[in-house]
Amino acid sequence: MTSADASRAFKRDGRIVVVGASLAGLRAAEALRAEGFTGSLTMIGDELGEPYDRPPLSKQVMTGWVPAGDTTLPRRRGIDAEWLLGVPASGLDLATNHVRLADGREVPFDRVLIATGVRARPWFVESEAAMDRVFVVRTREHAESLQRALAAGPSRVLVIGAGFTGSEIASVCRERELPVTVAELAAAPLAGALGAVIGEVAADLQRTHGVDLRCGVSVTRLEGDAQGRFRRARFDDGSTVDADVAVVALGSIRNTEWLRGSGLAAGVWGITCDTGCRALDINGRATDDVFAAGDVARCPHPLYEHRLLSLEHWANAVEQAEVAAHNMVSAQADRRPYLSIPLFWSIQFGVNIKSVGVPTFADEVVVTQGSLEDHRFVAAYGYRGRVTAAVSFDDAKWLHHYRRLIETTAPFPPRCPTPDQPTDVKPVPVELPGPSLLAQGATAVATGRTRASTASRPRTGSRRKRAG
Ligand SMILES: Cc1cc2nc3c(=O)[nH]c(=O)nc-3n(C[C@H](O)[C@H](O)[C@H](O)COP(=O)(O)OP(=O)(O)OC[C@H]3O[C@@H](n4cnc5c(N)ncnc54)[C@H](O)[C@@H]3O)c2cc1C
Repeated sequence: MTSADASRAFKRDGRIVVVGASLAGLRAAEALRAEGFTGSLTMIGDELGEPYDRPPLSKQVMTGWVPAGDTTLPRRRGIDAEWLLGVPASGLDLATNHVRLADGREVPFDRVLIATGVRARPWFVESEAAMDRVFVVRTREHAESLQRALAAGPSRVLVIGAGFTGSEIASVCRERELPVTVAELAAAPLAGALGAVIGEVAADLQRTHGVDLRCGVSVTRLEGDAQGRFRRARFDDGSTVDADVAVVALGSIRNTEWLRGSGLAAGVWGITCDTGCRALDINGRATDDVFAAGDVARCPHPLYEHRLLSLEHWANAVEQAEVAAHNMVSAQADRRPYLSIPLFWSIQFGVNIKSVGVPTFADEVVVTQGSLEDHRFVAAYGYRGRVTAAVSFDDAKWLHHYRRLIETTAPFPPRCPTPDQPTDVKPVPVELPGPSLLAQGATAVATGRTRASTASRPRTGSRRKRAG
């Protein structure tokens, strides 16, 4: 047996531990077995129950169409693993190769995959966040209780933050014919993810569907009644809104605290990795036995000047998990880089929104097909004269074409000789909000190098961060 053969055989055996038993963790475990891994596999997850899918939680579950319990992720294959559920990992010891659990147990590994994702950013005043009828939406339990509150027919719902989750909840409220107020600190809904120009279309959609949309305002206080139930919100412009449900949709926080002291480069934007999903240590060296995937990972991408992409996208979690798993069981020469083009979708107010690339990595945007007024269009994003992203509203048919433009660093503005091309194809500034709002609203953020100094440290708990 050559030394390469021996290395391959070793990689397919041994002990692999996956921390975070949700989408990325499960798909990685399946890929490990599909790749021929025959060793022991341990899944550690702080949630109880089978891994489930999150996108329906703010959509079909919220309308009441799909029960929260019916969101279990389909299995692609058996994974023959030991499941340690309902207990969080509390530490990672890379000197002895052990994962520490909060209940004191220690789990040894030869290789570990970190897939601990993100959690919802809570309302910044703990006592107000703890009031009855103040919700966030990240888990099945969150969605179940908010769905119940909506089904009870509240007099008004207040949604704080008009990123994708907040906008989807507002959409469901209108579908249920519930009065809803949306408070957003930026100039428009989705502005943190797609810029103010496209955000204006989202604003128009919301208002057309009867949302009381308040942009450029900050919620400063949530007030309750004598029973501790949410009743009123105060805004920084002196106005108030009476409502009996508040949904806090202020983005997310990466679950990296448990890695403190591990020596890994892990922080507010996630775990820094190389393109092969190997975690880097605090000195920037790639570890050989520690990998990361999904919302918690940040990997460099050559199409985005090798900046580190932090993505909260379903497709990214699946594809990155597969690459990480492949690399975990492969010898150096057989490893693959993770170079997928980000892909995201959302459904709100009856409109199917899709994006490819990184819309926040742009300085200009141009409508290349359809029209903003009709809420049916494709817009391309450009950075320094090349295409970096595209977003479609109810017009996803051509997105694969834009994906190719991104992959080939095609010049911006792109030529799109389709019959629905607008007469005036003129790029305008993309108008993204500052870094603290990006941290709340965007699901794809490039950090590192020039933007890192400002964008890598979202402020928490400051007055200016309070509304969406
Ligand atoms: C309401 C909602 C709607 C969404 N809609 C869309 C959409 O329309 N389109 C789209 O592309 N994406 C959408 N997403 C995003 C998508 O669901 C995520 O990108 C995906 O879930 C990421 O998977 P993950 O496994 O990386 O992380 P997660 O799903 O966050 O899973 C991480 C798991 O690790 C666990 N964990 C955390 N810390 C520890 C610890 N210390 N020890 C053990 N376990 C731990 C967590 O509890 C969780 O179970 C949506 C997300 C939400 C919440």
